[in-house]
Amino acid sequence: SSGAKITVALRMRPFSSREADEGAEQVVHMTGAPSVNSPQHTTCTLTDPDSGDIRKYVFDACFDSTNPAGSHNAGQQDVYVVLGAPLVLAALSGVNGCLFAYGQTGAGKTYSMMGVESAPGVVPLLLDALFAALDRNANPVVVASYLEIYNEELMDLLQPRSGGPLAVREHPARGVFVQGLARVGVTSAADAGRLLSEGSKMRSVAATAMNASSSRSHAVFMLDVSVDHPASGQRVNAKLNLVDLAGSERQAKTGTTGARFKEAVAINSSLSALGNVISALSKAAAKGSKPKHVAYRNSVLTRLLQQSLGGNSRTAMLAAVSPAHTNFEETLSTMRFAKRVRAISTKPVVNAVDTG
Ligand code: ADP
Repeated sequence: SSGAKITVALRMRPFSSREADEGAEQVVHMTGAPSVNSPQHTTCTLTDPDSGDIRKYVFDACFDSTNPAGSHNAGQQDVYVVLGAPLVLAALSGVNGCLFAYGQTGAGKTYSMMGVESAPGVVPLLLDALFAALDRNANPVVVASYLEIYNEELMDLLQPRSGGPLAVREHPARGVFVQGLARVGVTSAADAGRLLSEGSKMRSVAATAMNASSSRSHAVFMLDVSVDHPASGQRVNAKLNLVDLAGSERQAKTGTTGARFKEAVAINSSLSALGNVISALSKAAAKGSKPKHVAYRNSVLTRLLQQSLGGNSRTAMLAAVSPAHTNFEETLSTMRFAKRVRAISTKPVVNAVDTG
């Protein structure tokens, strides 16, 4: 069957001041001359600081962002072009999309997804492009939702509720959805941007209230885009999932008790469920067979992303890494994960809306 490969890009952030102070060595290098068509590298190497062994990985793009002031530094726009722009095109023609950011805490996931005031990330850039491209004559309707998964519980970041965590449900026609999740109509990129920053604030306030860190939760910004198809005129609908995952670092096994322990276990179960799903899908892809027994139901995250990972979606992944030798183990595990994701194909189709 014809599928679409998941686009996978790796991004290396600058040395943090702490890494610089420690005199950390750079173990990630991007190699191979960038081509004329793409300013980005596609190959990177990772050097084992103990043995000196060099591993080589190929991705759809390798972004070297180690030198923000440098002329060859990969900036937010470069990342957007590779990972975000295709999702805008897909959404405008009724094709679902997903972008998820993976990596250890501090590797640059939130910087890449959300960005900072002076350098907006993929999500705000995507919102700008989407609303700029929407044709009024196509009767566009855009609805946003924003949720967080923390300790395997689902929380609404746009509309706090007293009724406890939300539940994921499955509808025969609508597919997987979150029952009771606020759906807010948006008519401009500024509108959507406001929801994004309000929700993100809520995410960190909630984390602080629980004496936790927002790096322990998964955040999913959802857009539901309906338009008259530019070619056929048929009403089409696309769902976009923009996901900032919890830090992928292994949780300390000792000295973790009580709430911290419960949290560590929950994060591990969600991210390891994601790892298992990716493993099952990539193994089947390597054999050219249909994946059997993919355990989507083992976590809230994988249930929610089921279509995005193995089904009807155009999907992209950003793997964020540190350049420093002190993070070698986590960087290795991120690169391995990213390599497996790159083997997977999804099956994006145009979602026609039955207008009766
Ligand atoms: P994560 O979301 O993975 O925990 P962050 O996005 O918060 O990590 O990044 C950690 C720190 O590194 C932040 O201070 C962020 O501003 C900085 N940073 C990350 N990526 C870049 C980049 N490409 N250019 C400049 N600074 C970055």
